[in-house]
Amino acid sequence: MKIAEVHVHQHGLPVRGGPYRVGRSEVRFLTTTLVRLVAENGLVGWGETCPLGPGYAEAHAAGAVAAIGEMAPGLLGADVLPVPLHRRMDELLHGHRYAKAAVDIAAHDLLGKHLGVSVSDLLGGAVVDRVPSYFAIGVGPPDDTARVAAEKCAEGYPRLQVKIGGRPVEEDVAAVRQVWEVVRGTGVRLAVDGNRGLGTRDALRLSRDCADVPFVLEQPCDGLDELRAIRPLLGHPLYVDESSTGLDAVIGAAATGLVDGFGMKVTRVGGLHPMRGVRDVCAARNLPHTSDDSWGGDIIAAACTHLGATTRPDLLDGVWIAADGIDGHYDDERGIRVESGHIEVPTGPGLGVEPADGLFGAPIASF
Ligand SMILES: [Mg+2]
Repeated sequence: MKIAEVHVHQHGLPVRGGPYRVGRSEVRFLTTTLVRLVAENGLVGWGETCPLGPGYAEAHAAGAVAAIGEMAPGLLGADVLPVPLHRRMDELLHGHRYAKAAVDIAAHDLLGKHLGVSVSDLLGGAVVDRVPSYFAIGVGPPDDTARVAAEKCAEGYPRLQVKIGGRPVEEDVAAVRQVWEVVRGTGVRLAVDGNRGLGTRDALRLSRDCADVPFVLEQPCDGLDELRAIRPLLGHPLYVDESSTGLDAVIGAAATGLVDGFGMKVTRVGGLHPMRGVRDVCAARNLPHTSDDSWGGDIIAAACTHLGATTRPDLLDGVWIAADGIDGHYDDERGIRVESGHIEVPTGPGLGVEPADGLFGAPIASF
């Protein structure tokens, strides 16, 4: 099946209850980019990519539009099957994986609809009907962080992630310790995520001052060299998130024993097809990982959930979606929701969600 039309839309997503603080970034309003692929038989597939503002990663909303616009003329007539599609995208544009991800997700949606199967089926098959999620508590005063942790434990989340960084490390230590007082004995698992916001000095201090608190330490520092330097000195398991920029980086981190797991984002690595490779490499090395994205609505949430449903359950650390920070859904009926800390896997065909007609207005570019 060939691609006949490519349309690009943008849509504003104000951060509910914002600002949302992670690492050294703070966001109040995000712009998501949506790709609508139309096949030669008239079927439509949707994809989405939504960087967490311009300061979080080497990705931004205007860059997504530019990169998709660069590739789009060359995608007309291209096959929607993922192997030839990715080869074509790589011929047309080097890098820019977060933009290619929107095309990749739309192609999976289209292919699933064409074959009458869900995206989970295309990825090898779901092994569960619902996946665990986790709640990420933004950087804030330790008392507030502990209060939110108590609320989310009561709601049924099996895992909490506490954001740290961008402030004196003593406040991070206090936040982690106060959350542990709330979580201790509940069975809820804990991750502490620096989002690259700590230096090596403060990352080591945090691990030593919280030596009795069981948590996974996620990407405390910026870059693999800093993580490599602190790795032998840490008392906590180490996960890489922002530095796992693609399957190549994941293979390197897994093979060298740098990490105990990954915070993974579908769009960062280029979409569902490369993420499937990440999933399988992690399974081969028994490394847990998440299936997340940085932000975005029902389209990206559905993509992350489908991938998560195909992940070995003992290795899936959860599917994080931005629904808590977004008002409403693209698809009122089948939009992706977290209930009791878990997400029902959409049944498809394709992604299993369909944006309401006209929701995103006229496309900003059509090819
Ligand atoms: Mg993370």
